[in-house]
Amino acid sequence: MGGTKILALAVNGGRVSSRRRIPTPPAYQEAVRAISGLVSEVSGGDPPGSVGVCAPGTPPGLGSTGAGNARCLDGMPLGPDLEAALGMPITLENDADCFTLAESLLGAGRGFGLVLGAVFGTGVGSGLVREGRISRDKGAAHEWGHSVMQPGGARCGCGGRGCVEAYLGGASLAVSWRQMVGGRMGAPGGAGDAWRARVAADLATCLAGLARDARPDVLVVGGGVADAGLLDAGMSYARRLCGVPVARGALGADAGALGACISGTAAPPPA
Ligand SMILES: [Zn+2]
Repeated sequence: MGGTKILALAVNGGRVSSRRRIPTPPAYQEAVRAISGLVSEVSGGDPPGSVGVCAPGTPPGLGSTGAGNARCLDGMPLGPDLEAALGMPITLENDADCFTLAESLLGAGRGFGLVLGAVFGTGVGSGLVREGRISRDKGAAHEWGHSVMQPGGARCGCGGRGCVEAYLGGASLAVSWRQMVGGRMGAPGGAGDAWRARVAADLATCLAGLARDARPDVLVVGGGVADAGLLDAGMSYARRLCGVPVARGALGADAGALGACISGTAAPPPA
């Protein structure tokens, strides 16, 4: 579950057998109903062997903090409510952790011991996976999207000011593009180039700071904004700044949901 869409995948024998994507409903109860409905839909009416869910925020409660881009989850018991709706246990993980888990086992982080993931979608998040398992010991990196990039700067969905997400989240990028360029995405011209250069520099600074703290073997960058091709310049700049390999995620928009599927099972599915 993300800030703008919910993607459900069924994985059967190591392959994605069914998928469905819907817009994220604005209200919490609707979101719970939508997720449980998607589970029955993609599993074809048969009870699934396991269910993994990922969403913004900090596990185990999620939603408690850092869910600025999915406010309906704030303080809500998503895990227990989904278990009640589905009549079975589930795993609930942070969305950036699940992105990193999937990329570590099946994508751009394969073969690396310590994989740091950075996700730029509606929100901004990070995850750390050590030897194929989500690392819980990364401390403040969990709320990386809400670490302060510009003290006293732009207002963020979390209520704070100057957060990374307030500059590099999808909604914030759309606002700054309108303010600086005033045109459609992809419009040519100097203002567009200046905007791209500023985004790339902000991105590189943030990624380099994150990598300096976590000291990963590889940094994998993904999310809807990264997929839109905006972040290549920032990634190559970050590569030079932080001195670790920086790779674009290989699993595209499926990464978070695949990671949730993996976290829902005792053993990862074969690649
Ligand atoms: Zn924030």
